[in-house]
Amino acid sequence: MQPIVQAEGVRKSFRHVEVLRGVDFEVQNGEVSCIIGPSGSGKSTFLRCINHLERIDGGRLRVDGDYVGYQERDGKLYELNEKALASRRAAIGMVFQRFNLFPHLTALQNIIEAPVLRKLRTKPDAIKHALELLDQVGLLNKKDAYPAQLSGGQQQRVAIARALAMEPKLMLFDEPTSALDPELVGEVLSVMKRLAKEGRTMVVVTHEIGFAQEVADTLVLMDQGRIVEKGSPRELINNPQHPRTQAFVRSVR
Ligand code: ADP
Ligand code: MG
Repeated sequence: MQPIVQAEGVRKSFRHVEVLRGVDFEVQNGEVSCIIGPSGSGKSTFLRCINHLERIDGGRLRVDGDYVGYQERDGKLYELNEKALASRRAAIGMVFQRFNLFPHLTALQNIIEAPVLRKLRTKPDAIKHALELLDQVGLLNKKDAYPAQLSGGQQQRVAIARALAMEPKLMLFDEPTSALDPELVGEVLSVMKRLAKEGRTMVVVTHEIGFAQEVADTLVLMDQGRIVEKGSPRELINNPQHPRTQAFVRSVR
């Protein structure tokens, strides 16, 4: 079966600095892969490449069979324009560290915005679906609240519902709980755990080792622009082989 994400030797530089230095990574349909690693190791940049927010400089990166940034026709690759990129991006759900809801829209309006704009659903249908999603993240009673009226944990749960509204094949999470007050982390992780158990394909950058241990099929350690170790969470956490992994696991325990 074809992986949902397939990265081979992915490279990315900003000016003279090579941030991704040959990343090999795969996620199969229905799998949860967690990425851990020190700050500055390229985790966010890698997610941004998967989500068509950055172009790669080398290697190969495919999402759901398509080369990121390109369309394949008669065996040749053609660069996608901004409009085509935006439409590919819309097929991937992304939740960032900082709450990135539209501040002038209510929770419900945030959720229906993309599916209506991209004509995935009619407005009444999008509203019906959004209410179901709000119910799933436990926030039906906050449908008319603006982001500023919600806690950080509630905002992240709306952000997750908003990403799900586009019925994405793949969900990307970039440290979704690291900007939250400690008492709000659990409610977001429990929504993510449920998504994992429902069989969603997820790539999660996180320092929440307990979460990774419970839900990840694969855990990888990124360091200095490369994946230096990968395995089951149990192997990686209890018996790390690479010195970088040993040091990192010690630091977050
Ligand atoms: P992580 O998410 O693992 O903390 P990042 O992917 O955010 O790491 O960053 C990796 C490196 O790339 C850092 O040194 C960062 O400063 C650099 N970087 C990230 N984005 C840019 C950019 N747009 N321009 C220049 N440098 C960048
Ligand atoms: Mg980051």
